[in-house]
Amino acid sequence: MRPFTSTISIDEARRRLDATVRPIERRERVGLAEATGRVAAADVTSKVDVPPFPRSAMDGYAVVAAATANATPEAPVRLRLLDRIYTGQPSRVTIASGACAEIATGAPLPSGADAVVMVEQTTPGRDDEIQILAAAAPGQHISRRGADITSGDVVVRAGDVLTPSRVGAVAAIGCADVAVYAKPRVAILSTGNEVIEPGRPLAAGQIHDVNRFTLGAIVETHGGVPEPHPPAGDTVEALTTALDLCAGADLIIFSGGSSVGERDRIIDLVSARGELIFHGLAIKPGKPTAFATVKGTPFFGMPGNPTSCLSNAYILLVPFLRAIARLPPHTPRTTLVPLGRRIASSAGRHQFYTVRLRNGAALPAFKGSGDITSLSLADGYIEIPAESSVVEEGTLVEVTLF
Ligand code: AMP
Ligand code: MG
Repeated sequence: MRPFTSTISIDEARRRLDATVRPIERRERVGLAEATGRVAAADVTSKVDVPPFPRSAMDGYAVVAAATANATPEAPVRLRLLDRIYTGQPSRVTIASGACAEIATGAPLPSGADAVVMVEQTTPGRDDEIQILAAAAPGQHISRRGADITSGDVVVRAGDVLTPSRVGAVAAIGCADVAVYAKPRVAILSTGNEVIEPGRPLAAGQIHDVNRFTLGAIVETHGGVPEPHPPAGDTVEALTTALDLCAGADLIIFSGGSSVGERDRIIDLVSARGELIFHGLAIKPGKPTAFATVKGTPFFGMPGNPTSCLSNAYILLVPFLRAIARLPPHTPRTTLVPLGRRIASSAGRHQFYTVRLRNGAALPAFKGSGDITSLSLADGYIEIPAESSVVEEGTLVEVTLF
């Protein structure tokens, strides 16, 4: 055994992680159907006007506004109906003072007309006449050409996340694809002689791989592309071979073997192949965590215990990955509730303690760092600072929700 001689605080770990982040530079073009949630890599500037022609914003009648000036329900203005204009079908007629054309929402305004009277303010007259019951103001119910977007307008800025409405703006200007930053490729690998892929039967002493899937889910949720590898055994040779297979990734995450046991080889691997940035955190769960760079690629050595591994993924990996992916920081929802039962905490370590919400109170859900149900049966966690060792029942606690 090679015990931790010192650990660093969570804040110091965050500082060192922030100092290591290099936002991704690779770019690619994606079709609009794949663009939601991606980060624009360049300004998107319109080369066209939207709408491309003046159009009606209502179902009604295109008129010359001045001709309707005296219209009231008692004394309607009678106009001769020249045409019916539907969307996609420009009209060839010209509207003069005594005339009008029926027009659908979105249909091109005919020449001569400068207003639309909505159908509710009209009644049919005799023969081919329409009676206008209210005066129209010039421009009324018309979207002029370029009213939404004018040629030269920037509809999306570089660095913007492509929300549904921004994808819509790109579609409106007629672009079928958009330049985005590539998603970081994240190599994920579980280590441990005992770790077996789910779907295979267990021999004596073996367990199924949990971390590969929890880490993969986190990576996928926060803008990365998980690249899972099969589990590797606890020798420096096996780990070195596995590490070589991760070449080309933007981020490498191993789990297991990051502690201080004789078979915990991650530190040997990193010492031989990379530069260690920290090993050992004053947090619970998640103390045996290493962070390094390997040929410039950031490398997490996460604890093998599934709850420690996933808890660290939420706390350390998510902000780091999002920064690489150029996504804005994730702000989980929180709720303030009384603690339903007293919790004793490890003094000297900042604790992330999982809780369940029941009847407006937070109940302890943490079983052990090795138990995935510490997290899967919890609704969120509370943080207990290093200097506190007890949180009494009834204390108001802030729960960060999963
Ligand atoms: P380690 O961090 O290698 O000392 O492992 C700590 C504990 O986590 C041990 O009980 C391991 O069997 C278990 N463990 C390690 N890796 C995994 C994994 N990928 N999935 C589930 N449990 C694991
Ligand atoms: Mg192990």
